[in-house]
Amino acid sequence: MKILVINSGSSSLKFQLFDSSDLTVSASGLIEQIGEEQSSARLTYFDGVGTRQMLKQSEPVAEHRQAIKLMAELLRESGAMIDVRELAGIGHRVVHGGEAFHEPILIDDAVISAIEELIPLAPLHNPANLTGIRVAMDHAGDIPQVAVFDTAFHQSIPEYGYLYALPYKLYEKYNVRRYGFHGTSHSFVSKAAARFLDIPYDRFNCIVLHLGNGASACAVENGKSVDTSMGMTPLAGLVMGTRCGDIDPAITFYLERNTGMDVNRIDDMLNHESGLKGLCGSNDMRELLAAKEQGSKEMALAFDIYCYRLKKYIGAYFAALGRIDALIFTGGIGENAAPVREHACQGLAGLGITINSEKNNQRKERIMEIHQDEAAVKVLVIPTDEEREIAIQVMAVIKGER
Ligand code: ADP
Repeated sequence: MKILVINSGSSSLKFQLFDSSDLTVSASGLIEQIGEEQSSARLTYFDGVGTRQMLKQSEPVAEHRQAIKLMAELLRESGAMIDVRELAGIGHRVVHGGEAFHEPILIDDAVISAIEELIPLAPLHNPANLTGIRVAMDHAGDIPQVAVFDTAFHQSIPEYGYLYALPYKLYEKYNVRRYGFHGTSHSFVSKAAARFLDIPYDRFNCIVLHLGNGASACAVENGKSVDTSMGMTPLAGLVMGTRCGDIDPAITFYLERNTGMDVNRIDDMLNHESGLKGLCGSNDMRELLAAKEQGSKEMALAFDIYCYRLKKYIGAYFAALGRIDALIFTGGIGENAAPVREHACQGLAGLGITINSEKNNQRKERIMEIHQDEAAVKVLVIPTDEEREIAIQVMAVIKGER
């Protein structure tokens, strides 16, 4: 039997097919530029002999309903999955679970309504996630379908960590609080680190830095998230590809009063034109590192701002936790950008964090240890795998383990 994991973004659809017996991947696909003039769809699959690629470039995919149909077509044509009855379960990534969902849950009408009610908190993501769920329910209603929430791992954050210093009624009436995101990734890599270091997860303390296009830090105490840098929305915290992370909230009023930009324009700018892109014109860390090497002052400054913010969060979460077993880097930048790891950890010897440059610059597909031999804190690079974690959670729900 197989497990299908569906991750619908605002303009993309990512999916992966796992064998339910050993969780090997038999196919993975990505449909991009949904809603644009030209969409692209690709599938990588294993045909029993080797890995094959299937590409569909030309037809525009108008919306997610069509994208899900295309996904089914690709899986059928490649032979990766001929019939939905081959599925033991389907997992859906859902970005916002609010306070309603602390763990993965079997989807029924009540769950769908609850996800719908949370749309104001995630207006771009939850509607796309819901379309994926609805179409999959229409086509494969008999197959157990499980929602896995980005926010769920952070529901263990204590009240003093998730409340903002705002009038309390804004929390009671409008649900204004920190939720945090990337929970599936933080959970996956922190568990992998505890296993790797042979420390029981319920006694494991660590700081995880998930650095992709979006980026967030998470403080994990005894296997539970106790703080995270993203807030009510994914705009807060670290410097990201195009998002600003932490800023003085009064900047937004200042901009509205003095620049002629209205609130929607400012919202767009903070989300899509800020971060690394706003600072130096590129949100691609590879490009930034190459230009910095060639002497670009602009790129070097963006790099410094990015790493300084990371260092401040490491310090803050170290203080929040009191002690850590490990500092973990993951995500496209965390896994690949050695200079970011080195720079963010510079000057942290007082906390027991020291990097071995040679180990930091090696390349491995699997878990890498990059701390100096005598260091008190293990510094690890761990490839994240959100789809696999979702598949694991789907299996657990189906087996009644959660
Ligand atoms: P997403 O959050 O969209 O899943 P990823 O986790 O793939 O994003 O991370 C994307 C980021 O990772 C980009 O900034 C990209 O430049 C960076 N990245 C990918 N590979 C490398 C590399 N070899 N060196 C430095 N940065 C890299």
